[in-house]
Amino acid sequence: MTKEQILKILEMPDEAFQKEEMPKAREVKRLHDNTLYGTAMLGYTNICRNQCLYCGMRASNRIPRFSLPKEDVLESVMLAKERGFTRVFLISGEDPKHHFADLLWLTERIAGNGMRLSLACGEHERSQFRELADAGAAEYVIKFEMSQKEMFDYMNPSTTFEKRMAAIEAVKDSGMDLASGNIIDYPGQTREMIAQDILLMKELEISWAPVVPYMPAMGTPLQQQGAKPGSRILALKEIAVLRQMMPDIRITAQQPGDDLTKGLADAQGNLDAIAAGADILFCDLLPEAKAQAFRVVDDRKLKNEEHLHKMADESGMTLSL
Ligand code: SF4
Repeated sequence: MTKEQILKILEMPDEAFQKEEMPKAREVKRLHDNTLYGTAMLGYTNICRNQCLYCGMRASNRIPRFSLPKEDVLESVMLAKERGFTRVFLISGEDPKHHFADLLWLTERIAGNGMRLSLACGEHERSQFRELADAGAAEYVIKFEMSQKEMFDYMNPSTTFEKRMAAIEAVKDSGMDLASGNIIDYPGQTREMIAQDILLMKELEISWAPVVPYMPAMGTPLQQQGAKPGSRILALKEIAVLRQMMPDIRITAQQPGDDLTKGLADAQGNLDAIAAGADILFCDLLPEAKAQAFRVVDDRKLKNEEHLHKMADESGMTLSL
C-alpha cells in the first residue's frame, strides 16, 4: 500500500472500517495460516536506567522493583516448556545490574532446549547482538516507537533516534528476526505519522509487529500532562493495514478493550484485534504481584493459557503453543 492508501484506511469512518476493512484483513490471515500463536512471556527485571516519557518502568517512577536471578528465569521457562510452550519471550528494562553474560547464559540454555526465543532487552552493541544470535536467539524485539526523529528524541531522552535505528540495523545484520513497531495515538501523533511508521515496518521487513495503543502509565510525564489513552479503533485500523501489507508476520493481539481497567487480556479487546488480523497472545510466567509491577503500562493483566484456548475457540483459529 502507498502512504495515501494507508491514510485512507486510517481515516475511514469507524463503522465502514469495521464492515469493510476488518473482514478483509481477517480473511488474509485465515487464508495464510489461521493460527493463533500463544507465547510464554517473562519480564525478568523491571529495573530500567532510561527515562522514556510514556513508560511506567522509567528510572524515576516509584514502583516496586524486582530482578529475577537467571536460575529462576530458566526454571520458569522450563516449566512453561513442560506445559507445552515452544516459544518464549523474555523482556526486561535496561537494567545495568543484569549482566549481558547472564542473558547469554539464558539464551544458550533456552535455545539449547529447542525453544524459539524472542528477546526484548534494550539497546546493545552490534557485537552483542551477534553473540545473542550465535547463542541461538531467534528474534529480537526493538521498537522504533515513532519514525520521526524529533518526536523520538523528545519521548526517549536516554537515547537518540540514530542510536535506535543503528541498533535495529545491527539486529537485522546479526541474523536474528527483527520485531519492531510503533506506539499508536500518543499525544501529538497524526494519522500521517502513523502511516510513516507503517511504511517503516514494511521497509524493515519485520517478523512481528508488537504494536499497542498508547496507554497513560501512572507517574509518567505524559500521564501527568493529562495525556488521554490512544484510540482502540485506530489501533485496529493499523493492525488491519499491517495484516494486508504483510500476510506472514505476527501481530500482537494482546490489545485493550473498551474498559481499560481490564488491561491487555480483555477478551473483547483481544477478539477485536484478532478480527482485524492480529495473531499472537501471551501467557505471563510471572507470579501475579510481580506481573503487576512489570508495568510499561498499568493493568497489563496478561492471563494464563486457558485464556489462549478460549480466544482461539471463539475466533475459530488453531492455537499453537
Ligand atoms: S520503554 Fe523500555 S527503555 Fe524505556 S523506560 Fe520503559 S523499560 Fe526502560
